[in-house]
Amino acid sequence: MKVYFVGAGPGDPELITVKGRRLLEEADVVIYAGSLVNPEILRYAAPGARLYNSAALTLEEILAIMQSAVAKGEKVVRLHTGDPSLYGAIQEQIDALEEQGLPYEIVPGVSSFAAAAAAVKREFTLPGLSQTLILTRRAGRTPVPAAEGLPALSCHRASLCLFLSSQDLAAAATELARGYGEATPAAVVYKASWPEERVIYGTLADIAARAREAGIDRTALLLVGDFLGGSYQRSRLYDPDFSHSFRPGRPTDD
Ligand code: SAH
Repeated sequence: MKVYFVGAGPGDPELITVKGRRLLEEADVVIYAGSLVNPEILRYAAPGARLYNSAALTLEEILAIMQSAVAKGEKVVRLHTGDPSLYGAIQEQIDALEEQGLPYEIVPGVSSFAAAAAAVKREFTLPGLSQTLILTRRAGRTPVPAAEGLPALSCHRASLCLFLSSQDLAAAATELARGYGEATPAAVVYKASWPEERVIYGTLADIAARAREAGIDRTALLLVGDFLGGSYQRSRLYDPDFSHSFRPGRPTDD
């Protein structure tokens, strides 16, 4: 039996993958990140499954639960919010499982950045505006390498999604305005895909104040970039004059 790291998705219980849900239904043990995983998703677990909230556990305790369950031939699901590859602290768990020779598998999930784009009904990568998405955070207790500070990243003027920084929005907006300019559109998406989802729109000049007025100080993403409103070129993929391997282009006169 194995340990499965499963992405729970951003909140909406229907945004877990089919595979993730099946594993959850089959699991003997579920260790979930209680601070962010929607409790509704735990309803997919079997009635007899043992549930542990990892918020109250150390890495060593989590590993001990995994080890004893796998030794008994049980299936373990380690449920992480969004996609486990982003700010999930899974690497230290993976490395420990490797060391102990315990089998494991990773099942991706829908990250909150994708749910935030859905909430604002915008595409991050618009031709002529940006073809790059920066996923980053401000330094907190976890440091951020100096070269990845917001003033440095803002020089690219790429579409940007800021995690884990809801309490630092004013500082973040000031730093980002250096490269983007204060007039650049910004949005704060609170609890994307949850019933209580909210979106606050503004620019880098006022987004922090607007979010503060709305009382948003956690579980939010800051989206920044002209993709939120600037004019863009239409896609060449669906341009009648542009041919690609699945569709011949319209013959042109020249
Ligand atoms: N692995 C997760 C991110 C975990 S870090 C993912 O892929 O989404 C936790 C941070 O993610 C929060 O501080 C917040 O910035 C963001 N976040 C997680 N779920 C969110 C949601 N539903 N709406 C908005 N932000 C969310």
